[in-house]
Amino acid sequence: MSSTVAEKAETASDGILRPSTGKALIIDGKRVSELVLAETAEKVRTLAASGFKPGLAVVLAGDDPASHVYVKAKGKAAESCGFYSVQHNLPATVSELEVLKLVEQLNSDPSIHGILVQLPLPKGIDSARVLNAISPAKDVDGFHPVNVGLLGVGETAKALVPCTPAGSMVLIERAAAALGFEVSGCNALVLGRSNIVGKPMAQLLLAQNATVTIAHSKSRDLPDLAGKADLLVAAVGRPNMVPGSWIKEGALVIDVGINRIPGEGVDASGKPKTRLVGDVNYEEALARAGAITPVPGGVGPMTIAMLMSNTLKAALRGPRRADPATDDTFGGA
Ligand code: NDP
Repeated sequence: MSSTVAEKAETASDGILRPSTGKALIIDGKRVSELVLAETAEKVRTLAASGFKPGLAVVLAGDDPASHVYVKAKGKAAESCGFYSVQHNLPATVSELEVLKLVEQLNSDPSIHGILVQLPLPKGIDSARVLNAISPAKDVDGFHPVNVGLLGVGETAKALVPCTPAGSMVLIERAAAALGFEVSGCNALVLGRSNIVGKPMAQLLLAQNATVTIAHSKSRDLPDLAGKADLLVAAVGRPNMVPGSWIKEGALVIDVGINRIPGEGVDASGKPKTRLVGDVNYEEALARAGAITPVPGGVGPMTIAMLMSNTLKAALRGPRRADPATDDTFGGA
């Protein structure tokens, strides 16, 4: 959570922090992610009473330090939700065939309802081939063409939706409720068109009847596009790219970007400090936006929470579902 969030009033039970200064509402993604995790854990406890436990398998290949950190956090969240959680660590020398065999084995394992293959995979392995080998029903990252297609035709309830845009959508819904903002019919600008964030984000907003514009590195006149946006989602990966002056007065701003930039001073080991910032200039945006997500502490924590939510959704639909009546609970998740 950024210091700006910490120095303001308490986050309310809806996950929204209301500064007394007349500035933007701050969408506390950490708080909302805790609510999503608690809700998931509660549902898992109910299922456990009937002897059923959702299972999540994470496949990690190679030595990428960031991937190890992410996978550890995912395993911890899975255990806190009461899932059966397994991690498969493969060496950097693993072959594509071996990874595909493991995926096949997990596809047919009835105790596993969600499979996540951590990217990037070691050099020489075709990531698309591996991701496409995951059963769409267990594809909790939502990257399989079947889930991409379901989202594309507007079947958002049936699709397993990629976690970052799904989490952003939860934050949008909460902020919209707090602001009295209507997503339906609003002008939404999505900056970025990646398959994991920009495109699925645009599809989710379209499904909510927003008028969606997708901008990218070849788009012209971004300030003009942004100035017309009631809702702006930035998923570019460029630190502070969106200045406050681009933002429409009162707009709802979701900053997906996570960028590390040089900080001030040195750490205990004498290394220059770094800090995380988003794609939006947060301090400037606070003075214009109606609501905004901070970085860190905004969209970031939602991604893992939605992975857990997706795993439960997959488990409730799976063949070993213990209580069909619970399926409706996650029909629109
Ligand atoms: P990608 O690099 O895959 O996509 C970036 C997109 O931004 C591309 O569509 C690119 O356009 C566009 N872009 C780049 N430069 C500009 C520019 N100057 N003007 C307009 N558009 C531009 O990134 P991701 O979508 O994977 O991630 C985006 C950001 O979100 C990153 O900071 C990443 O760290 C963060 N992220 C955060 C997550 C979280 O959990 N909160 C999860 C995933 C990502 P083009 O297509 O033309 O190249």
